Amino acid sequence: MRQEPFSGEFREGMPFLGGSLWIDFVNTTPIIKGELLDLIGTESALSHWAAQANIGTPDTENRDDPAALHALRAQLADAFDRLAASEPLPADLIATINGLIERSSVRRRIGAGAAVEEHVEYGGPPVASAVAWDFAHFLDAFEHQRMRHCDNPACTMQFYDVGKNNRRRWCTMSLCGNRDKVAQYRERKAIARQH
Ligand SMILES: [Zn+2]
Repeated sequence: MRQEPFSGEFREGMPFLGGSLWIDFVNTTPIIKGELLDLIGTESALSHWAAQANIGTPDTENRDDPAALHALRAQLADAFDRLAASEPLPADLIATINGLIERSSVRRRIGAGAAVEEHVEYGGPPVASAVAWDFAHFLDAFEHQRMRHCDNPACTMQFYDVGKNNRRRWCTMSLCGNRDKVAQYRERKAIARQH
């Protein structure tokens, strides 16, 4: 069970544009075409999302509890804003994350290119554990000024800007960036007509 590095934007219509798995997890309530969706709202939706997130869910013993996942998502959404504002994280979130990662074990080996490869075996529910691991790694090395909400006020998505210039404004150009360009163009045209 290895998490692939961030790539692409949409996988089968689901946004994976947060720059980190835990942010993609928070972004599972996107507004697409004016409709608020919950991409982990049902068991089948959840396993579909997990597959696109490259999280293997092999054993039936440790299943993710939908209610626990929804609670974790709400906690992490709150954590996103706290981290972006350089505020401390609540103790109950830390306890939840520790509870998940303490059940997992890590094996390391030297792989291709003499790089150390990390293989995590999740001892707890797979989606919650993978998200918790990602969040813990994220805390290790992040810059708070790279954490932003999409500039479109009608959009719910947030992201970690991994770009060199840290100037990303939109979740995606296709969903929100181009919309803004069109709006600006119309505005300029309307102003031009008034003169
Ligand atoms: Zn957006």
